[in-house]
Amino acid sequence: MSKAVRRDRQVVTKDSHLPFEEFSLENVDRLVDQLEKTKPKDSIVEVTPMEDSQHSPCFQEMTAIIVHDIGKTQESPQIYELYQYCPVCKMAVKVL
Ligand SMILES: [Zn+2]
Repeated sequence: MSKAVRRDRQVVTKDSHLPFEEFSLENVDRLVDQLEKTKPKDSIVEVTPMEDSQHSPCFQEMTAIIVHDIGKTQESPQIYELYQYCPVCKMAVKVL
């Protein structure tokens, strides 16, 4: 029962993910495209390998997808969103 309720709520916020919620992602570009549309003004979407972070089920190096304005603004740079993606399992998780 509670599962059905949660699903209804997800439909409302279709394009956002809860922190630490894993979701399947066919291709990292799909998430990047989505973030490019929703990112705050003057921020950038950066995709970068995470050399010291492995996905625990498969031990593959994960990719970080970061929405930030570091280097774009003089005052208090900020990280808005952070995702980790495993290209082997095709799973992404929202960290921030
Ligand atoms: Zn994996």
